[in-house]
Amino acid sequence: MSTTITVAGTAVDTRHWIGGRRVASAETFTDISPIDGAELGRIARGTATEAAAAVAAAQEAFPAWAATTPAERSRLLHSIADGVDKRIGELAAVETRDNGALLRSHLRGVMPRVAHNFRFFADWLLELAHPPFDTRGHTNRVSWDPAGPCALITPWNAPLMLATWKIAPALAAGNTVVLKPAEWSPLTASLLADICAEAGLPNGVFNVLQGHGDEAGAALVAHPGVRRISFTGSVPTARRISQAAAANLTPLSLELGGKSPLLVFADADLDLAVDLAVEQYDNAGQVCLAGTRILVESTIAEEFTRRFIERASALVQGDPRDEATDIGPNIHPRQIERIDGFVQRAIAKGARPVIGGGPNTDLGGLYYRPTLLTDVAQDSEIVQEEVFGPVLTLQTFDTEDEAVRLANDTHFGLAATVASGSAERADRVTARLTAGTVWVNCFFVRDLRAPFGGSRDSGIGREGGNWSFDFYCDLKNTVTAPKGWTDHG
Ligand code: NAD
Repeated sequence: MSTTITVAGTAVDTRHWIGGRRVASAETFTDISPIDGAELGRIARGTATEAAAAVAAAQEAFPAWAATTPAERSRLLHSIADGVDKRIGELAAVETRDNGALLRSHLRGVMPRVAHNFRFFADWLLELAHPPFDTRGHTNRVSWDPAGPCALITPWNAPLMLATWKIAPALAAGNTVVLKPAEWSPLTASLLADICAEAGLPNGVFNVLQGHGDEAGAALVAHPGVRRISFTGSVPTARRISQAAAANLTPLSLELGGKSPLLVFADADLDLAVDLAVEQYDNAGQVCLAGTRILVESTIAEEFTRRFIERASALVQGDPRDEATDIGPNIHPRQIERIDGFVQRAIAKGARPVIGGGPNTDLGGLYYRPTLLTDVAQDSEIVQEEVFGPVLTLQTFDTEDEAVRLANDTHFGLAATVASGSAERADRVTARLTAGTVWVNCFFVRDLRAPFGGSRDSGIGREGGNWSFDFYCDLKNTVTAPKGWTDHG
C-alpha cells in the first residue's frame, strides 16, 4: 500500500515523522474530507510503541537542541516560516480538503498566521530577558531553561494554526516536540514535518505521531519522558489528560471549550452588533471563542433579530473552496449528528428556531444550516453546553446587572464580546465579566503578545509572549555573591 497520497494536487506522506524518518504502523485509519465525504487516504495509526519511539527521539535530540544559541534557534524558526510562506497555497488547499474550513480564510488569514507564529516566537526569544536585581549586593539572574520533550495535542478546527502556536514557542525555548494532530485532520502536520526537515531542523527535534486520541494520544501524555503537555481540545479529553499528567506530575497547559456571550446594549451601533453576531457562524461555528450566546437589551431585541435574520439569511453555504462561500461543512457526519442532537433537544424543550434548525439536506447532509434559537432558558443544555456548530441562542435582558449575570452564568470563561456605544458602560461591564479575552465592539482581534486562555472549564494557563516561554521552560534564578564576599551568616 502506498504511503503517499495526493490531496488537492499535493503529495502528503501518511506515516509518522519520528527522529527524522518516516515510520509506518501496522494499522491505519481512514481520513475523509468533510466537503463531500470522499476518502482521502489511510493514515498511520500510532500505538504506545510509536508514541514511545517518538518520545525517545525527542529525548535523544534534546541536549544538543537545548544547547544551541538563541540566535541559531531563531534563525531556524525563521527558515521554517519561510518554508510555510513558500507553500501557503498547498497548505491552504490541503487543509481545506481535510477539515472543510474556507479556502479563502486559509489562504489569506490562517496560513500567513502559521508563518507568523514561527517568526513571532523566533524574534521574541531574542528579547527574552528579565532585568537582574540585587539582594544585599548579590545579583539575581532569572533564566528560562528548556524543559525537555513536549507533547502537543491539537484539535481539528484550526489544525496547523493551533499546532504551530504551541510548536513555535516550544522549539524557540529549546525543547523538542512530539505533535499528535487530531485524527479528523492529520494532513498538514505531515507537510509541516517536510518543511521543518527542509529548513534544516535537526532530526528528532520535531516529531509527528499520527493516530487516535485514546490510543496514540493517551500513550503519549502518559509517557514519563514527556516534560510538558500542551493540549487544545474538549473538556472531557482535558480531564483524561490531566489524570495521565498527574501520574508523572507533568506540567500541563489546557486550552478548552467555551460558551461565550455577545452582549448587545441598546446604545450599540446596531449594524456593527449584527455584523458581530453573524460573524459567530465563522468556520461553521467550529471556533472555541465563538460568542454563541447573544444577549440583547429587550428594547432593541425585535429590531436586532429582524436585521440579524436578514443578514444571516444572505450567507452562502456550500463548498469551502468556492470564493463566494461563507459557511462550509462541519467536520464529520458524527459532528452533524451531535449538533442536531443539541438543536432537536432544545426545540423539544420549547426553543424556537428563527432560522435554520437542521442539516442542509440540499447539500447532502454534511452541512448544518446556520441556526438561531430563541425562547431558551438560562439553565437549559443549549445555553450551558458547547455545541461547536453554527448554532446561536438569543436571550434578552433589561438591566446591566442582568446582562452580566447571564453572561457569567456558565461553567466556561473563554471569551466575551460587548457591543455598546458607551465607553463607561463597556469599562464597567468588562471589569465584571469572567473571561480570558474580552472584545469591545470587535471580535477575534488577536495578538501573540497578549495572554490567551480561559477561566473555569475553559482552561488552565495562558499562551502568548512570555506566558508561552514561562510554560515551556523551567525558570531558574541564579544568585551570585559580589566579588570577595565572605559573610556566610
Ligand atoms: P477532542 O478533545 O476530542 O480532541 C482533541 C485532541 O485530543 C485530538 O488530537 C484527539 O486525538 C486528542 N485526544 C483525545 N483523547 C485523548 C486522550 N485520552 N489522550 C490524549 N489525547 C487525546 O477535541 P476536538 O473535538 O478535536 O476539538 C474541539 C474542542 O476543542 C472544542 O471543545 C473546542 O472548544 C476546543 N478548542 C479550544 C480552543 C482554545 O484555544 N481554547 C481552540 C480550538 C478548539
